[in-house]
Amino acid sequence: MPDEIIVQGNPDIHNIALTFDDGPGRITPYILDVLRKYGVKATFFCLGCCIEKNIIVQEYTGKDLTGSEIVKRANDEGHLIAIHSYNHRALPGLTEEEILDNELSRTKNIITNLTGKAPVYFRPPYGSIDDRVNKISKVLGLKTVLWSCRSADSSTETAIVPDGSLRYKYGPVDIYKNIMETTGNGSIILCHDGHSGKRDANLGIVSALDKAIPELQKKGFNFVTIDELLAAGNYTIHKSI
Ligand SMILES: [Zn+2]
Repeated sequence: MPDEIIVQGNPDIHNIALTFDDGPGRITPYILDVLRKYGVKATFFCLGCCIEKNIIVQEYTGKDLTGSEIVKRANDEGHLIAIHSYNHRALPGLTEEEILDNELSRTKNIITNLTGKAPVYFRPPYGSIDDRVNKISKVLGLKTVLWSCRSADSSTETAIVPDGSLRYKYGPVDIYKNIMETTGNGSIILCHDGHSGKRDANLGIVSALDKAIPELQKKGFNFVTIDELLAAGNYTIHKSI
């Protein structure tokens, strides 16, 4: 029986899921503020290395926050914490031991210790997965989730920031426009709150979401976490990799 990789929720229901990869990062607190402003819950596919390291939050709270504190806040505010990997390496190129012990199990343990809940959902770095990685993730009881919409917030092209209140780091594709044009029933929207654990994420995503979320809510969409999205059944899977 082929392994299942989830790419989209129920197309008959107005539920959509924002997902953030590569964090926690410096912009995660800004994203959490925007989500709180609109009462929206999202899913964070975290990197173990970013949870463990200290992150300096500038021009915001005035204090240094650790990755753990940021993820703890996200969890406490009702967001779903999921696994991206530990080091953001392309998993198909690693040995079985590296994938299981160094990347997935290690990150699962870090998140479990932090939140008191074992993470269930997993998104491989670069969306790069093969049968072997898929089998190993199943050993840990993980469900693989990719995406149906890209905000393109990690693009290296020139980006447009809708209200100009926050500067983008790199970009600019029109992140706001990408989200508005590609989101539909059951969408799993790919965004970033870090960048491969090395560079900062694109701050443009914060102002793009500040504009897109209320407009999508006005259109009748409900923002839900991945587990809520999948609870509605009839989700789309890719059966071949
Ligand atoms: Zn990533």
